[in-house]
Amino acid sequence: MPTLDTRAIHDGEPSPRVEGAVSLPIFQTATYTHEDPSEEVRYIRYNNTPNHEALHGKLASLASTDDALVTASGMAAISSAMLSLLDAGDHLVAPQSLYGGTLDLFDDLLPRFDVGHTFFPEDDAPSTWSRALTDSTTVLYAESITNPLLEVPDLEAMVDFAETHDLITVIDNTFASPANLRPAELGFDVVLHSGTKYLAGHSDLAAGVVAGSSDLLEQIGHTHKLLGGMLDPHACFLLHRSLKTLGVRVRQQNETAHALADALDAHPAIAQVRYPGLSSHPDHSRAEALMNGFGGMVSFTLASDTNVDAFFDGLTLPIRAPSLGGVESLITQPIHTSHASVDPAVRDAMGITERFVRISVGLEDTEDLVEDVTSALQDA
Ligand SMILES: *Cc1c(COP(=O)(O)O)cnc(C)c1O
Repeated sequence: MPTLDTRAIHDGEPSPRVEGAVSLPIFQTATYTHEDPSEEVRYIRYNNTPNHEALHGKLASLASTDDALVTASGMAAISSAMLSLLDAGDHLVAPQSLYGGTLDLFDDLLPRFDVGHTFFPEDDAPSTWSRALTDSTTVLYAESITNPLLEVPDLEAMVDFAETHDLITVIDNTFASPANLRPAELGFDVVLHSGTKYLAGHSDLAAGVVAGSSDLLEQIGHTHKLLGGMLDPHACFLLHRSLKTLGVRVRQQNETAHALADALDAHPAIAQVRYPGLSSHPDHSRAEALMNGFGGMVSFTLASDTNVDAFFDGLTLPIRAPSLGGVESLITQPIHTSHASVDPAVRDAMGITERFVRISVGLEDTEDLVEDVTSALQDA
């Protein structure tokens, strides 16, 4: 089978090409002629326009799944999948540190449909996970790399656990991207992405992905049609274009992130670096075994005598903004962004303080970026 780089470019493309166009054009139309009643109705919200179908083929190929569905955002993918897979009375289990929107979905929205959940601490041993189960547990939900501590859970143990207890496994693979990890190859049933991040890669659109078996995708696709969170054809075009460069972008981001993590690790103005590629990271050997690369996200804690404001003021390349996976490096203090609404005691216990910084490494030249960050530290 061709590698991911080749598949990203050639898989899912229509054959023959539309009017010979090398790049799939944008079909900016809401509806399609329907003269033969035996044919499928094509309609923009049904996700079956040429732009949607080409993306589905390409995304399934990248995720190593039978099928895929593109959605209007990562949350549209997550909510459609969960509202489809869970019935009233069902219960799900998940590690505690989840994306904020997902936490709110599980805490606020799903209980209104009588769907409960139990979270277990990220680092609990797999042998203790069964304590979270109830008689109605049907789904195990996880994230392949957590935010912002960049933990890599024991994904293989999760698949085994789910098999033993007859659970459907769902994983948010946003931070790793299919270039670094394909959870379906480990046995996960449903793989979710915020396409807004690495898949789009340019911080210029919102999208989401659900990938899995044809049967599950048919079921989730039906719910998604009813919820109506479809991606517009123009955004489909932009995402489609971005996917062709996924491999080369992520490889470079992995490389620069690793170089930055090494430089920070050696810097006196830094108390601690969290990067799965460093041997000091608690999940380093697991990340090495499971992933093609350690990712483009680096978190670190500024030393107690480093001036936080002076550090941020000294940066000229990374932009102070939430989100991740784009060509511009983005830097945040999670205490003010993703973890602003988390209980301060819980945050403190995780080490997420005013001094804790997260950077999404972009595609600036490696040396330029490392130089920019280290000289801001020097002056802080
Ligand atoms: C951003 C993000 C989401 C939500 O995606 P949107 O495209 O903003 O809806 C979900 N999971 C993770 C891990 C994310 O980083």
